[in-house]
Amino acid sequence: KLSQRLQVVADFVPTGARLADIGTDHAYLPAALVVAGKINFAVAGDVTPGPLQNAINEIERLQLQDQIIPRLADGLAAIQPADQIDTVVIAGMGGALITKILTAGLHQLHGVKRLILQPNIGEERVRTWLMAHHYQIMAEKIIEEDGHIYEVIVADYTLMPFRYNDRELRFGPFLLGQGGPIFQAKWQAEYEREAQALAQMKAAKQPPLDKIASFESRLNQIKKVIK
Ligand code: SAM
Repeated sequence: KLSQRLQVVADFVPTGARLADIGTDHAYLPAALVVAGKINFAVAGDVTPGPLQNAINEIERLQLQDQIIPRLADGLAAIQPADQIDTVVIAGMGGALITKILTAGLHQLHGVKRLILQPNIGEERVRTWLMAHHYQIMAEKIIEEDGHIYEVIVADYTLMPFRYNDRELRFGPFLLGQGGPIFQAKWQAEYEREAQALAQMKAAKQPPLDKIASFESRLNQIKKVIK
C-alpha cells in the first residue's frame, strides 16, 4: 500500500500513461500503478546506486521486469526517446533540485504532456518554472502525513498563454481557492517563522532595511490568507 503522499501522486497519473518516475528510490509508485493495472510501462530512474537497487529489488519481488525499467541516471537522462514517456513524476525532493532536474533535461521533456511534482519545500520555484516552460497547473493538493506537510502540483503542457501572479506562485493557484486546515496550518507556521526572523532583524545594531521591507511585504501577503 502506498503512503498517502504517493497515493495522491498516483491518482494524478492518467490511465495508460507511459511514466517516468525520477528519483524513484524503491519504485513504490510505478510498482503500485502497474499492479493496480492503471499503467503498463514505466521507467524508474535514480542517480544513486543504493536507491536504484531498492527499485530493482521491488521490481523483481513483484515480477514487474516486463513493465518497469530501472535506470541509473541523473534526472531526466533516464528517459530515452523510444520510451515515449508522456508523464513524469518527480517526488520527495526540494523545489530547487526538481527545477534543476527539469532544466537540465528540457529536451527529454519533448512529448511529455503531464508533470506531477511533489516538492518538499520550494513550491514557489516549481510553479515559476512551470509558468516559464508552458506547463499549466491543472490541480494541486496539500496533505499532511507523519507531521510533514506536502504539496502535489500537477501541470499539463499547453501552447495557450497563461500567467500566475505573485500570490498564485507563492500559495498555489488552486490551493489559494481551496484553503482548508492543512493549508492554514502551513501558512500559520510560516508566518510565525518569518515574523520571528523579522523581529531579529529589527533588533540588530544595523537593521537591514531592504530585507526588512521585503519580509514585511511577504508577511502581509501571508496575513491575508490566514484566518
Ligand atoms: N520519489 C520517492 C518518493 O517520493 O517517495 C523517493 C524520494 S527520495 C527522498 C529522493 C530520491 O531522489 C533518492 O533516491 C535520490 O537518490 C534521488 N535523486 C536525487 N537527485 C536525483 C537526480 N538528480 N536524478 C535522479 N534521482 C535523484
